[in-house]
Amino acid sequence: MWARTPGRGVTLQLQDDYSGVPLSTVARRRRDIYGLIPDFRDKCPLCGGKDCAVRHGLYFRGVVDRDGQVYEDFPVPRFRCRRRGPRRPEAVTFSVLPAQLVPRRRLSLPLMLWLVSLLGAAQRSVEQVLDALASATAAAPEPLVLDAVALYRILTLFSQAYARLQSFPVPGLTLAAPRVGGRSQAQTVAEALSRASPSEAVLSFHRLYFPNLLFDSRLRR
Ligand SMILES: [Zn+2]
Repeated sequence: MWARTPGRGVTLQLQDDYSGVPLSTVARRRRDIYGLIPDFRDKCPLCGGKDCAVRHGLYFRGVVDRDGQVYEDFPVPRFRCRRRGPRRPEAVTFSVLPAQLVPRRRLSLPLMLWLVSLLGAAQRSVEQVLDALASATAAAPEPLVLDAVALYRILTLFSQAYARLQSFPVPGLTLAAPRVGGRSQAQTVAEALSRASPSEAVLSFHRLYFPNLLFDSRLRR
């Protein structure tokens, strides 16, 4: 996803599985977070150059995880392209998000999947899901409070992903028989993501839904 940050120009967000560690671990790693992700020495994701991308500090964003845990300063590592390769994209920097996060969304993907499954199960009402959410996260330091608008946004995201998956199938992500209605379609996508192997499924979802991402998991090899 291309994002224009005031004063910083265009930057690119790509995603990685962060060695499969949970978000809570990533949140604690801070300075040694780079050990969890590729060093991009073989190939710079922006220009394609070897020994090009260098560390460029961290930025911090808000994250709400599946258990209701809120991280106001979740660290995201950045890299800078030194233009040593053949390509010349507009962006000079890129950041690497954990696969469990969605660009520009505060709620983690596992949390969104869970919310969609709550909505789909027995066709609960939005109010019932919000109640279930509040009680399930009551033990967290700050119980998670969402409003109906946030839930509808998530449903929209997943029903759009359903339509996209119909046109652009992703290997390893098999949708059940087509259903009618946005909520059922959202549920179908969430079920497919839950059935597939966790990191690959999530990364496939990102690749599908955020086609601008220059994602390449093989960069870490
Ligand atoms: Zn580069």
